[in-house]
Amino acid sequence: MEPIVIIGSGLAGYTLARELRKLDKTTPLVIITADDGRAYSKPMLSNALAQGKSADQIASALAPAVAAQLNAEVLTHSRVEQIDPAARTVRVAQRVIAYSKLVLALGADPVRPQLAGDAADQVLSVNDLLDYARFREQIANGKRVTILGGGLIGCEFANDLSGAGHHVDVVHPALYPLDRLLPEAAAQDLQRGLAGVGVVWHLGHTAVAVNRAATGYVVTLDDGKVLETDVVLSAIGLRPRTQLAQAAGLQVARGIVVNRGLATSQSDVFALGDCAEVNGHVLPYVLPLMAQARALAANLSGTPTQVVYPAMPVMVKTPACPVAVATVAGEVAGSWQVDCSDDGVCALYQDGNEILHGFALTGKQAGQRQALARQLPALMP
Ligand SMILES: Cc1cc2nc3c(=O)[nH]c(=O)nc-3n(C[C@H](O)[C@H](O)[C@H](O)COP(=O)(O)OP(=O)(O)OC[C@H]3O[C@@H](n4cnc5c(N)ncnc54)[C@H](O)[C@@H]3O)c2cc1C
Repeated sequence: MEPIVIIGSGLAGYTLARELRKLDKTTPLVIITADDGRAYSKPMLSNALAQGKSADQIASALAPAVAAQLNAEVLTHSRVEQIDPAARTVRVAQRVIAYSKLVLALGADPVRPQLAGDAADQVLSVNDLLDYARFREQIANGKRVTILGGGLIGCEFANDLSGAGHHVDVVHPALYPLDRLLPEAAAQDLQRGLAGVGVVWHLGHTAVAVNRAATGYVVTLDDGKVLETDVVLSAIGLRPRTQLAQAAGLQVARGIVVNRGLATSQSDVFALGDCAEVNGHVLPYVLPLMAQARALAANLSGTPTQVVYPAMPVMVKTPACPVAVATVAGEVAGSWQVDCSDDGVCALYQDGNEILHGFALTGKQAGQRQALARQLPALMP
């Protein structure tokens, strides 16, 4: 019998494999990964510096241990170059591997900023353990870090780096951080909280060039201002990895298109995690991929199951100003009711009948996220 093949050993690939093994202990399972196959929790990458954690300390298990736990073969440092859905095979270097069912858990690529300058290629991004190890090496050489992007990941790194004793500049094109997720009052509270731990904001601007300097680099902004720095970290967004699927003729939109059973447009090929667009939703977070993994494991072991999304608030890991946010599902006519107090900001998105559809909470107010989440409609019932 041909194995179930999972491409990707991130949280999506390994969580699916664990869920599958709860239901089916024996079907041959092969996990193919371009990286070293260590198991780790990616969210830790943006709050591990202040705790002084190395990449090895973040990893919870090496690939051989994971393989043994999962009764699976884990092929590390193996990049899949081609999928042939008609022949039901994948190609890795010179090897062709047949599958009975194929799962794409390919993750997302960091968006590269468009920059001029002789050091544009020195800009780092941190999207996996190996990136984190390189980043730690670089920041050991200097105290000044410039972060491009004040979204969720940029804000988390800003807090973590300042907590680890670095000087942090953040360049962000909007007039307040996390502008895609938060109403202005909540975003400004976060901005103040991070400024309070030393983060210097450059809002309403983008970086246009990075050049080498006598020590470190010089980042030039669109208004001509220059920032001297030792390391430049880009956190301007992630794009689902769709190329492999597209080349194999699978339907692709923002992500690899799958239905609520996590099936792609090709039979016996599935996708989940950051690479997948599930019934129109691209949600690059842990809770959605766990719901996907449970549903897909049931499907792979013969019980037709559709993924259900409850309301899934996201906690932004910025201890200087904790933030909890639940985005509004789809287009809902309504408005923000914003209450600011010494305990932080409580912003509730309500429709005309005062039904709650989303929220943004900062500071101590973030403590009510679970109670409020219970009042929200499910994202995908
Ligand atoms: C810094 C940071 C902090 C975060 N914090 C949070 C948080 O607090 N809460 C939250 O909910 N979410 C958070 N997220 C998002 C969350 O971590 C991701 O949604 C999740 O880890 C994605 O898992 P994944 O398995 O889909 O992708 P990945 O972890 O990217 O795994 C993709 C895998 O596919 C492999 N691969 C890709 N292409 C190939 C190929 N061609 N051949 C073989 N293998 C291939 C890669 O090697 C890798 O093993 C954070 C993300 C980042 C970057």
